[in-house]
Amino acid sequence: MTFVSTTHDGTTRAQRAAQSSRSAELYARACELMPAGVSSPVRAFKHVGGTPIYLREGRGARVTDVDGNRYVDFCLAWGPMILGHSHPEVVEAVVRATRDGLAFGTTHAHEVALAERILQAFPGKERVRFVVSGTEAVQTALRLARAKTGRKRILKFSGCYHGHSDAMLVKGGSGLVTQGIAESAGVIAAETTLVAPLGDEAAIEEAFAAHGETIAAVILEPLPANNGLLVQGRRWLESLRRLTRAHGALLVFDEVITGFRFGFSGYDRVSGVIPDLVTLGKIVGGGLPVAAVVGTAEVMDLLAPKGPVYQAGTMAGNPVALACGIATLDVLARGGVYERLETLGRLLDEETAGIDGTLIRRGSLFWPYFAPGAAPVRAEAIASEAVDRFRRAYAGFLAAGLYLPPSAYEVGFLSAAHDEDDVRSLARALVAASKAQA
Ligand SMILES: *Cc1c(COP(=O)(O)O)cnc(C)c1O
Repeated sequence: MTFVSTTHDGTTRAQRAAQSSRSAELYARACELMPAGVSSPVRAFKHVGGTPIYLREGRGARVTDVDGNRYVDFCLAWGPMILGHSHPEVVEAVVRATRDGLAFGTTHAHEVALAERILQAFPGKERVRFVVSGTEAVQTALRLARAKTGRKRILKFSGCYHGHSDAMLVKGGSGLVTQGIAESAGVIAAETTLVAPLGDEAAIEEAFAAHGETIAAVILEPLPANNGLLVQGRRWLESLRRLTRAHGALLVFDEVITGFRFGFSGYDRVSGVIPDLVTLGKIVGGGLPVAAVVGTAEVMDLLAPKGPVYQAGTMAGNPVALACGIATLDVLARGGVYERLETLGRLLDEETAGIDGTLIRRGSLFWPYFAPGAAPVRAEAIASEAVDRFRRAYAGFLAAGLYLPPSAYEVGFLSAAHDEDDVRSLARALVAASKAQA
């Protein structure tokens, strides 16, 4: 199968076609109105070439763009749509909540309902604070850690993305690495943010030996999924728990991608390592803006108005958004979804056995790595060849009717709405792309 027929000027046929599309027209107008025409950097398609696709609707695993092209969606809004688009129960819950009023800026019964569901999934945790984005959840968690310990430094890992708060925009993966930015301009974070390589126990020991008295928290994605999928060993996660405890620092799991991803639980259930604070987003909102910080009462009750750590939000705990999250979690809690995702994932493993490179997968997260050798476990080990080959293959994925995240560094997602044929189509395209680009 050949997808990409390159013309003399290096553009693909799909890109040529796109230039005269309604998507391309909209994008041209958007570029006159918005920086690079987008609300979030990776959406601009700079990394893979061509112009962004303007989606019009999504049903199940399928999305349709403004030109009427249909794609099987493996980007899924970057993770929240684990049930697929427009799940009937979720839509019904959102419509009902919408009819009752969009926002009150008061306490609301939905807060209690969603907090109960979340805490049920995180044994030992006692409090939830709702915020609007993963970025805010992380910001709040770090503020709490600094207040709790009276220390200023945060240790993060190269390639872990924690949203776009200033302190976290160093070696942040995701859109930063996609645009080739190590550290955002306009940010002064270096002083208080320490950065270590993933999976390196000695590096953490050194960091604590040098700065142990001033490290408030170690934050990580326990399964880093914003700079490829960099699977970490359990022993290393355990060493982080041990060292943070020994030095009086908090351990923060940023579970904005992993929370409720592998079961009705957090990554503590997968790894056996229990963090002090957890940040959630994506799935807990089911497609609307909900994120949360989860922890013990001892730490969380430092938040205002109970304690001295200030945090607030006009749209925090918005009832319509919470209704969406509640309905999504209720479908997940009923069972069957995670088993289904694992079945589809196994099929993807089998069908990509012939890939020139590696298909790295955990549950519904997958990352095609188009380079020889072992799967990388740290950001620095990702071969540029793999990145280049993915970029060159991207227009071919679109031409084959597959919508993947438009970046070699972003993971793809399976949903409960995908079927076996969708997975086989994906596998065929990945295998063919890996060979065509070898
Ligand atoms: C998506 C993500 C964030 C940022 O969440 P936003 O809602 O985009 O601010 C933070 N951490 C991780 C691990 C993420 O995947």
